[in-house]
Amino acid sequence: YSSQAKPTRDSSYAIINNNDIEHFKTILDSHSIITDASEIDGFNQDWMKKYKGNSNLVLKPKTTDQVSKILKYCNDKKIAVVPQGGNTGMVGGSVPVHDEIILSLSNMSKIEKFDPVTGVVVCQAGTVLETIDSYLSPMGYTVPLDLGAKGSCQIGGNVSTNAGGLRLLRYGSLHGNVLGVEAVLADGTILDCLSTLRKDNTGYDLKQLFIGSEGTLGIITKVAMITPPKPTSVNVGLFACQDFNQVKTVLSRAKSQLGDILSAFEFMDRPCIDLVLKHQQVQDPFDEKSPFYILLETSGFNETHDSEKLNSFLESIMAENLIIDGSLATDSKNISAFWKLRESITESLGKEGAVYKYDLSLPIEQFYSIVELMRAKFNDKANVVGFGHVGDGNLHLNISTPKKPYSKEIFDMIEPFVYQYTSEHRGSISAEHGVGLMKPDFLHYSKSNNSINLMKSIKNTMDPNNILNPYKVLPK
Ligand code: FAD
Repeated sequence: YSSQAKPTRDSSYAIINNNDIEHFKTILDSHSIITDASEIDGFNQDWMKKYKGNSNLVLKPKTTDQVSKILKYCNDKKIAVVPQGGNTGMVGGSVPVHDEIILSLSNMSKIEKFDPVTGVVVCQAGTVLETIDSYLSPMGYTVPLDLGAKGSCQIGGNVSTNAGGLRLLRYGSLHGNVLGVEAVLADGTILDCLSTLRKDNTGYDLKQLFIGSEGTLGIITKVAMITPPKPTSVNVGLFACQDFNQVKTVLSRAKSQLGDILSAFEFMDRPCIDLVLKHQQVQDPFDEKSPFYILLETSGFNETHDSEKLNSFLESIMAENLIIDGSLATDSKNISAFWKLRESITESLGKEGAVYKYDLSLPIEQFYSIVELMRAKFNDKANVVGFGHVGDGNLHLNISTPKKPYSKEIFDMIEPFVYQYTSEHRGSISAEHGVGLMKPDFLHYSKSNNSINLMKSIKNTMDPNNILNPYKVLPK
């Protein structure tokens, strides 16, 4: 699963026995306790089928109180636990490494409150992101994050990974949009930080600890989030560019000329488009192939104003020869078709074979060079593609080979080179996917020793028995 070996099982963790299962039966009904191996299989394996654990117990609590009782028991007995949301994570964080209990949040999926004046929604952590969006839509609101996994990922998983996605450019990160969380600590303590206030400077902002800590500091049971009004006028442009310099210049023009209506700026190279055309029912929108494509979205509330702005932007980038081809979609069918090209890259890669995924933040000057370097390194040995949220400086570098299983030889060609390159340019080795099981040993490429030590002491204070998501995020 990486160039590093899988961590060995920590023998200080208890092995679950029948007495434990009998105890869980006093907390949960029998449908919420899964012990059947074939049913557990899907929970043991991640979305990419890259990481596989060996758990023989899944617990599916319905209330915060049940989560608290489970954790208290596990902490007392030193039983390791992995929290699992929609299991769409990309770094192996949501599946057990060995025999940890899987605590699935999928039975905690109630939307509890919505305030139509402030736009604040409160829901249980297991609510699927798309369900929240469908609930908000008739009331004229939308969720402030959007990602290809929206039909399966849960808000608790999104908050735990600080998921970025396609609209971060417009609405900012979950560190800003999440107003409060309720979380259960390792010893069962219920921490009520479920504020719905925009402003609250009463000392340390504890909820931030749970945003992006990937289930290592507590289990999120509820989330309060500010949601923006749903734009009524949406346009999407797909542009073809000759080189990456053009992509960069179009990005800076889009920021200055489209300003507040710019809601997404995504890029993909030609090999990405070829993959999508191979695996999905979509058509190439252009007659000629180009090396780079931009998907740009505007969202606003005044159709005439937005399309005038977009058309004059388009005229100016064409006049400056910054694009070689372009097409605009204004109706929902064409808009979805353009988005499908971008959103189904991950799924199409998954159909290729083994996929080695790297999710990097890089300065715009070095953004695409790493893709070219890796392509030169691999030659015909693997397919190297680059795409991502270029508007946020986030590159998804993916290397695929036609055959599984994952190969140590390929890993060694990529790691630690990719991380060293990223570190040399002061980038991040994980822009949005997190650290999970994939990257603890590489964390030092993005965090100083002092930072890692402080992270370890926070972990030790909040989870002294280290029962929550062990082997993940922090290096040994
Ligand atoms: P899981 O995968 O179940 O868990 C992720 C981590 O959070 C694990 O460490 C788990 O232990 C922990 N966790 C889950 N729920 C809780 C909880 N309630 N309390 C504490 N810890 C918890 N990610 C992006 O950031 N941007 C993208 O654009 C993006 N696009 C994607 C597209 C596709 C097609 C796919 C498959 C994935 C994509 N992802 C993206 C990755 C993934 O969807 C996100 O990381 C998502 O936020 C994970 O949510 P989940 O509910 O599936 O969490």
